[in-house]
Amino acid sequence: MQSIYEKYQLKNVINASGRMTILGVSTPRPEVVDVVAYGLNHFFEIKDLVNKTGEYIAGLLKVENAVVVSSASAGIAQSVAAVIVKDDADLLLNLHSSDKVVPREIIVPKGHNVNYGAPVETMVSLGGGKVIEAGFANECSADQLAAKVTPNTAAILYIKSHHTVQKSMLTVTEASEVAKKYNLPLIVDAAAEEDLDTYYHMGADLVIYSGGKAIEGPTSGLVLGKKQPVEWVKRQSNGIGRAMKIGKEGILGLTQAIELYLTAEKETGQQMVEKMSPFIEKLNSLPSISARVVWDAAGRDIARTEISFDEKSIGKNTFEIMRLLKQGDTAIYFREYKANEGKVEADVRSVTVPQLETIYICIRKLVTGE
Ligand SMILES: *Cc1c(COP(=O)(O)O)cnc(C)c1O
Repeated sequence: MQSIYEKYQLKNVINASGRMTILGVSTPRPEVVDVVAYGLNHFFEIKDLVNKTGEYIAGLLKVENAVVVSSASAGIAQSVAAVIVKDDADLLLNLHSSDKVVPREIIVPKGHNVNYGAPVETMVSLGGGKVIEAGFANECSADQLAAKVTPNTAAILYIKSHHTVQKSMLTVTEASEVAKKYNLPLIVDAAAEEDLDTYYHMGADLVIYSGGKAIEGPTSGLVLGKKQPVEWVKRQSNGIGRAMKIGKEGILGLTQAIELYLTAEKETGQQMVEKMSPFIEKLNSLPSISARVVWDAAGRDIARTEISFDEKSIGKNTFEIMRLLKQGDTAIYFREYKANEGKVEADVRSVTVPQLETIYICIRKLVTGE
């Protein structure tokens, strides 16, 4: 069969950037792919499928309730809509057009109001909510969060992510204490996080994950949490949820991926270090390059290779080097968050050992010309 790459003239990609939406996030295990194919080939009573896979996931994770949605972004929008609409039949159908007065304010620590590829605030608006920022760009305490609570508050939203400001931020537990004190639901966006029950146990009412990131499922999302709010999220399938419909294949595929995620052996940070070590050694033998192991800034068990370029002696800045590495026959993508400091990181979870060799050769060509 002619490959898809040839058919559509697509570029081969080496993904050393991690679980990135712009590159297709992750490649699920064969067991997950099989279940996706099974789902596509059969009919189901969808409500039943949603409820029973949700119960199954909740059982696996020992939480009250869960539902598979189409993405973490859809999870945020539908969770916001859920806590605004609740059981209201008219608001469900007229979320944005209704002038019924109900609490719609969603309090977010200012340093959490980020752009993860799309803005958090856009998802909140999509869910009929209005972001109220608490604290400052560089700090938010429990008191600063509580100070924004009014009768118009619908929920507190906490973004647990490497994208957010990390310093001087209240913890999920502290946010949960504020939520409890004012009898408000706490929504946690933990899209790329690896712990599927931690934030629930810290007191969140709804916790959102991206299906293709840590869980390595198909394109999908997971919302888990307390019984009632998750039921409200499910109701949104007759409201804004319809514009973000998940298919039967995604529901079944994510459920299978969660089960595997919990039982299958996971690559540890230490194993990543072992995989990268020969690569790092070779990079360090090149002029104008230095490489070393760095650990995930958000505290996850992920080790990466930090590569620093001596821009002066190479005669190119790091952005230019990154651009050239994407232009070859195979496009190579790194994590570029620190490119302005002359550094990038290679995330090797989705990179094979032969691909590491390819990366090394491409970098060598760029800096030595051979
Ligand atoms: C990736 C990400 C999302 C969005 O996840 P999707 O499943 O791609 O919609 C939301 N929030 C954070 C913090 C993320 O990292």
